[in-house]
Amino acid sequence: MASIFTKIIEGEIPCYKVAEDNKHIAFLDINPNAKGHTLCVPKDEENKIFDLDKAGYADLMEFSRKVAIALEKTVPCNRVGMSVIGLEVPHVHVHLIPLNDMSEMTFQSKVKLGKDEFVALAKEIAGNL
Ligand code: 5GP
Repeated sequence: MASIFTKIIEGEIPCYKVAEDNKHIAFLDINPNAKGHTLCVPKDEENKIFDLDKAGYADLMEFSRKVAIALEKTVPCNRVGMSVIGLEVPHVHVHLIPLNDMSEMTFQSKVKLGKDEFVALAKEIAGNL
């Protein structure tokens, strides 16, 4: 069965898109740890990041790097943190999280954003790519 992220990639489920190339997509996490929390996802569905081949892994890191630089320009923060988990969605993704505090990397404290805020944020990050 297609993962929820494949459904997003195929446009069956909406997302607040930040960036896309032929192999990847980046969109805002729907339940963010911090404002600007973004997911970078390879379009080919693979479960675990270290099962990607060398080129796929390197491409994902380079795509994530571009998005992280745009994110840091957009959201005031100490730095952008990066995490890979995948326990909830078994489709490789890199979490990029603008950090001011270690608690923002715990996935336990969440921030609520309204639809308009998500839309504006995605547009602003995309504009800084
Ligand atoms: P992980 O698999 O790395 O543990 O976490 C999956 C992440 O995907 C979570 O941070 C969760 O909020 C996010 N997520 C799950 N479903 C959706 C969705 O349908 N849309 C978006 N934008 N994010 C999602």
